[in-house]
Amino acid sequence: MAIERTLSIIKPDAVAKNVIGQIVARFEGAGLKVAAAKLVHLSRAEAEQFYAVHAARPFFKDLVDFMVSGPVFIQVLEGEGAIQKNRDLMGATDPKKAAPGTIRADFAESIDANAVHGSDAPETAAVEVSFFFPGMNVYAR
Ligand code: UDP
Repeated sequence: MAIERTLSIIKPDAVAKNVIGQIVARFEGAGLKVAAAKLVHLSRAEAEQFYAVHAARPFFKDLVDFMVSGPVFIQVLEGEGAIQKNRDLMGATDPKKAAPGTIRADFAESIDANAVHGSDAPETAAVEVSFFFPGMNVYAR
């Protein structure tokens, strides 16, 4: 399987709960490496642009409000099959439906405050990695 890079965001609810380290440990424990990382407080414009694909959805305003409500921890994760591996570690979007042992099952409260974001495909990973880490290539060397 190919070495990939993917974007992960530990969302404001999980940062506020002080579980950045526990979540990063899940990634590292699954064989993913942290290739880049930063703690930032997103502007409304950044959050709107990042989630532009959801602009027409009814939850868009609440999603943006939530994403700017506190700092987020943004990482590029790297490893074999990193995109799917990260999605598997995250669990389903709705924590109530997330499999036991997944990050969302263990750390998230609700579908709108669901602890983590992860790129869902190679195309979105490329866009999302360069959105937050300009000039960083999605393909590991
Ligand atoms: N979301 C929400 N309500 C919904 C669906 C999604 O608040 O009914 C939020 C939720 O935070 C989710 C994000 O919008 O993580 C992006 O939705 P997507 O379907 O892409 O889920 P994900 O890829 O994050 O699992």
